[in-house]
Amino acid sequence: MEKYFCKNCGMKFSGIKALAASTCRNHPKGSHQGNHKLYEGSEKSRYTCKYCGMQAGSIAALTASTCRHHPDGNHQGKHKPAL
Ligand SMILES: [Zn+2]
Ligand SMILES: [Zn+2]
Repeated sequence: MEKYFCKNCGMKFSGIKALAASTCRNHPKGSHQGNHKLYEGSEKSRYTCKYCGMQAGSIAALTASTCRHHPDGNHQGKHKPAL
């Protein structure tokens, strides 16, 4: 079965429609201010933040903390998994 992950919170879905139909607690505009966004990279054993290079074992773990190299400013957003 295909798995789809939200790039903002790491939540896992079995279909793109379900992913795009519910709100995201880690949405860049604020918690639940928008819907999940598809992570378009492949599934990996380690995910790397494209801003600061931090690594985590899952997108959920990576996006759980703020990023000191976030483009909006120091810790103004979460880590973003590189594709
Ligand atoms: Zn999400
Ligand atoms: Zn980062």
